[in-house]
Amino acid sequence: MKRILVIAGSDSSGGAGLEADQKVIAAHGCYAMTATSALTAQNTQGVYGIHETPSEFVQKQVEACVDDIGVDAVKTGMLASAGTIAVVAEAFQKHDFKYTVVDPVMVATSGARLLPESAIRTMCDRLLPLTYLVTPNIPEANLILKESGQPAIEVESLDGLKQLARAVHRLGPRHVLIKGGHLPLNAQRNTADSDSEKKIIANVLYGKDVDEVIELAYQNSRNTHGTGCTLASAITCQLAMGNSIAKAVRLACKYVEAGIKDSINLGRGSGPLNHFH
Ligand code: PLP
Repeated sequence: MKRILVIAGSDSSGGAGLEADQKVIAAHGCYAMTATSALTAQNTQGVYGIHETPSEFVQKQVEACVDDIGVDAVKTGMLASAGTIAVVAEAFQKHDFKYTVVDPVMVATSGARLLPESAIRTMCDRLLPLTYLVTPNIPEANLILKESGQPAIEVESLDGLKQLARAVHRLGPRHVLIKGGHLPLNAQRNTADSDSEKKIIANVLYGKDVDEVIELAYQNSRNTHGTGCTLASAITCQLAMGNSIAKAVRLACKYVEAGIKDSINLGRGSGPLNHFH
């Protein structure tokens, strides 16, 4: 059974964060371990509080798992502080994990900040050069560019997404997946009559030996809480199970698509995906 180490924040409502990650990993038949970087008091409507784990304790959790059980792949989510990002970068360097998937969680869909802006610089300088795959959405990718002293790229089309992927790739990660969910649907295809086609979300995967657009069928659902966490965890499992980066991302996109299609109407806000379908 492949062993996945998740370094992320907890979502008390179970829809995102490491609670979602663990369900995704179990659904893929892999084994989940967790280093908890923060607790959040959260539900489908918002984030009401954040309690950070001291960085040295995150380090202890990582080392305890690595020393005894071993790790086939690592997935990171909400890292909460520059100190914890530095600890994670040290662990990447020390253990030379084969697969490291970094979901650069910065702001929740509800608007809550999950990483201080000042910590993004540490992520760019220390973590990204050691990362196998980074999975920003468009606003996260532009915050990464801004903090690394580069101009923002206004994305209005698929070409813009591709430019953004190349710019983030220059910061050192082996592969970049830009999630196009924030791009208007009619800009996602380079065709004039996109209205007549099924609605899609385009994601651009770029990196060593790969340059692909991977599409996801758009679904009009309010239950999308934790979509980013779910996608990154599914990719991590598929990589650990031996798939190529392109196949891992394609399979994970299908998994997310099915999870949204089968999502659960819970709470009064944005409900969770169904991770077991
Ligand atoms: N809470 C935690 C702990 C997370 O890690 C994340 C995302 O990665 C979120 C909340 C944000 O989830 P969403 O933007 O899907 O609401």
